[in-house]
Amino acid sequence: MTGGAGGTGRMDAWVVARPGPIASRPLERTRLPIPSPGPGEVLVEVEACAVCRTDLHLAEGDLLPRRPRTVPGHEVVGRVAASGPDATRLAPGTRVGVAWLRSTCGLCRYCRRGVENLCPASTYTGWDADGGYAGYLTAPEDYVYPLPEDAPAEKLAPLLCAGIIGYRALLRCDLPPGGRLGVYGFGASAHLTAQLAVAQGATVHVLTRSAKARELAMALGAASAGGAADAPPEPLDSAILFAPAGELVPVALAALDRGGTLAVAGIHLSDIPVLNYQRHLFQERTLRSVTANTRADGRGYLDLATARPPRVTTVPYPFDAADQALEDLATDRVEGAAVLLR
Ligand SMILES: [Zn+2]
Ligand SMILES: [Zn+2]
Repeated sequence: MTGGAGGTGRMDAWVVARPGPIASRPLERTRLPIPSPGPGEVLVEVEACAVCRTDLHLAEGDLLPRRPRTVPGHEVVGRVAASGPDATRLAPGTRVGVAWLRSTCGLCRYCRRGVENLCPASTYTGWDADGGYAGYLTAPEDYVYPLPEDAPAEKLAPLLCAGIIGYRALLRCDLPPGGRLGVYGFGASAHLTAQLAVAQGATVHVLTRSAKARELAMALGAASAGGAADAPPEPLDSAILFAPAGELVPVALAALDRGGTLAVAGIHLSDIPVLNYQRHLFQERTLRSVTANTRADGRGYLDLATARPPRVTTVPYPFDAADQALEDLATDRVEGAAVLLR
């Protein structure tokens, strides 16, 4: 290992101690040894970590823990503090982002055909390995993204999952050039994706239960903003469901024009009610899921977002208030993205 930090000393961290309802305080504040980077890994000192809805699903047990007392957080901005054996690509001090996809096998049929997001052996930051609700974390350097020096960490962090996953969802919903896009739910990912679609010439209709989110949507260039289950003012070529609400799947399918596609962006969705073939699927409407992202998605989105930075609406929280940030996210009190700052 090169560089000074790692292997010695301790750091502040939050762990998912008892997965359960957020009101039962599933996160626990603790002190952990600073981890040592393994072969091919870098040690990253955390500047900021954005709070993703997936962190909430992990804290509440909607996603079952893969190991006990894991540090959540997978939208990390930091600097390389040390490198493990055979990690030579990123010099100490390099500013980097650590995202959700932590590793893939590189050998399976999915990895070989460019859909490493479907790799059965894939691992995830803050689920299979400790994440960024801590002073430091380790990550394989091949899965870490170099980031610009000049942007504030608070504005970069939400790009790493909210931005990248939204970008993949936008690709998956097959929006035609100049098309009409419905965005269901308007949290961190949706507010970045809507801006990308508007910049590409789409007409964006936002459907969300939060009045403040509707205001933000209009300020960011949406053509209309209505309630979660309202019909948009015109039929949609494509739609993305960001809200983890299965009951909105038939609502969004019914809003599609002939040949339209609905992509479900979340990792977790409540049950989808019974669909009616004529009302929801006939006329060649398509329903798709979005599963994580590839590194090509990550690079593609970060290139776009660096060249033309989106307006990133953030709510900063001190590191000590991670549990409050999750609770606020659970109760719809976060406009845009919550970000933990160290
Ligand atoms: Zn694989
Ligand atoms: Zn995420």
